[in-house]
Amino acid sequence: MTEIIETKEMTLTTTCSCEFYDEETDTSKPAEYCYGDCYTEDLEYYTEAFLNPWLEAKAIMADSPVRIEGSAMGWQRRSGYKDTSARAIIDSLSFDGDWTLVIRYDGNDLSFVRYSHDEPTGASFIVVPVSLDGETEWE
Ligand SMILES: [Zn+2]
Repeated sequence: MTEIIETKEMTLTTTCSCEFYDEETDTSKPAEYCYGDCYTEDLEYYTEAFLNPWLEAKAIMADSPVRIEGSAMGWQRRSGYKDTSARAIIDSLSFDGDWTLVIRYDGNDLSFVRYSHDEPTGASFIVVPVSLDGETEWE
């Protein structure tokens, strides 16, 4: 029997999504000031619902080495890769300034599309585990 895994998708962005609830009108509107809660909550959700299941599927740890392969990065739409650890993926994809990451997990692959001023049509990233020659960091 094949298990059907739906592709999950979420957005992590530097644009504040905090809402202020107005009791008098029973409506929510964008908060006037961001306390950073929106980003923190989204980041926690990413870790629980995207990163951890992916780590489990690949049988690796948060400290395990991974390679981020990118394409259409920056205004020159460059391709390249960066080696980092699984827990540092978001740090590696973020920078000072405004950006939005659309994160997808399909039960096997973890991928990202980043939108920013220099990447209006989106830069694509896929993350793959890196095997150290003959070495395993997990048992
Ligand atoms: Zn906010």
